[in-house]
Amino acid sequence: MDYKDMDPSTWVVNSGRPPATPSNPVNTPIFPASTFHAGGAYEYSREGNPSASSLEEALGGLEGGDAIVFSSGMAAANSLMDLWPMGSKVIAPTTAYTGVAVRLRELHERGQIELTTCDVTETQVITDLLPDYHILWLESPTNPLLDVAELEVLLTRARDCGVTTIVDNTFASPVRQNPLAMGADFVLHSVTKILSGHSDLLMGAVITSDRTAWEQLQVRRVLLGAMPSPFDCYLALRGLRTLFIRYEKSEYNAITLVSQLESHPNVSRVRYPGWGTIAAIEVVGSADQVCESTRLWTYATSLGGVESLLERRRRWPLESHGVPENLIRLSFGIEHPDDLWTDLNQALSNP
Ligand SMILES: *Cc1c(COP(=O)(O)O)cnc(C)c1O
Repeated sequence: MDYKDMDPSTWVVNSGRPPATPSNPVNTPIFPASTFHAGGAYEYSREGNPSASSLEEALGGLEGGDAIVFSSGMAAANSLMDLWPMGSKVIAPTTAYTGVAVRLRELHERGQIELTTCDVTETQVITDLLPDYHILWLESPTNPLLDVAELEVLLTRARDCGVTTIVDNTFASPVRQNPLAMGADFVLHSVTKILSGHSDLLMGAVITSDRTAWEQLQVRRVLLGAMPSPFDCYLALRGLRTLFIRYEKSEYNAITLVSQLESHPNVSRVRYPGWGTIAAIEVVGSADQVCESTRLWTYATSLGGVESLLERRRRWPLESHGVPENLIRLSFGIEHPDDLWTDLNQALSNP
């Protein structure tokens, strides 16, 4: 079975399964093993586990490359950064995901990399810089400002300049965007979010079509000890099966509510690219009070679960100061949009 022969929504349901032989289970079981009888494909679980391999097969086909899963999105990000030679010159978004932004700044301050940050929508600024850089780290849409980069232009130009590219595709997911097909070297995911989709595990993944780089990442995962647990791999693959229907319902809810939010008197700005499952609003009055007065929407960090979540991002001291104080990130779940609207509207009525 090859992912090229079918729609990704079919692939995600049917890939990563044991061989179809009598009495074999239809789903890959959870292999709670640290070690295996010697001499086979699996020896020690920090290096690989069948529960992880099944998930990797499914994820790889979704993005059109070879996948490797990690114990969190940040573990995946750090493993990528660990591949960079000392002194690498890196371009990254001004407001990237907080953990990534803080980590890159740390590497810069320690003299391990030379970091320049750019607004991802400033295509010309970035393409002008590229010839002098080694790494381009992109996120599109960005978390939480929902800025969209001209990925195709940036990735093509980066390739021409020999610049290694990483695209954090957590928000778009392979449902809406395949950065490898646009020329990216690496796709990064926080599998914690919509890929697993149920807010019950932490995981990350990198997908690449460069076999050598994939092998290097495999070594990073072994040495950094960043392997996810077999149980989490099982849960993530189970969640991934329904990615497309969850994404489409969450996106429908986002589109439906964004149009209502745009005319709400207590919402001064709505950020939404016109697609996807995440939006951000800037509110008049106390954003904390809005978060605290919802009854259906859950006030919690993270995103991409079946349940709708909201959060004022600047409550985190390390969040970029480019993010407005009164910005609330909305992660749309799969509930009925009328119920989501009724609750959000009442919470916004007395900010
Ligand atoms: C959550 C997130 C990460 C980090 O992933 P974890 O699984 O929390 O370590 C990276 N990038 C983006 C865009 C995220 O939303």
